[in-house]
Amino acid sequence: MLEMPADAVTEFDEELKKLVNNMFETMYAAPGVGLAAVQVGVAKRLFVMDCSGGKDPAQRVVMINPEVVSVEGKQDGDEGCLSFPGIFFNVERNLRAIVRAHGIDGKEFELDGNELTARCMLHETDHCDGIVFIDKMTPLKREIVKRRIKKLQKAGEWPV
Ligand SMILES: [Zn+2]
Repeated sequence: MLEMPADAVTEFDEELKKLVNNMFETMYAAPGVGLAAVQVGVAKRLFVMDCSGGKDPAQRVVMINPEVVSVEGKQDGDEGCLSFPGIFFNVERNLRAIVRAHGIDGKEFELDGNELTARCMLHETDHCDGIVFIDKMTPLKREIVKRRIKKLQKAGEWPV
């Protein structure tokens, strides 16, 4: 499922609210700063994010049907993903990103983020498009990581 583009959200109902609340809980419990619906087995275009890790309520955001409007600059930095526990590596991302999305109320808004916020929005929007961060690795590195994942799966130490 992580490798398939998700479907647009069309109903802003109670079910969606429940899903979003569950996603926030899962993300904070992990702990992580972002989580897309595809990571919890729901093929819908949305993600939750909190780059403060629960410290600043203003940074708690849900982005439904996210679309990258514009990007600027470059940044390097180690990235991880809740679907790939224990795997961290450098991913070049844009330094700044403006992403348009719908909120839980269905209203459209834009978020203009730098650094970690930009990295997180781009990583999570990729999830909605069926792109995982190991796709950004060189083919050789990706093979090594895939082999490691297979080994962990065999040992029953891999969550998916
Ligand atoms: Zn991820």
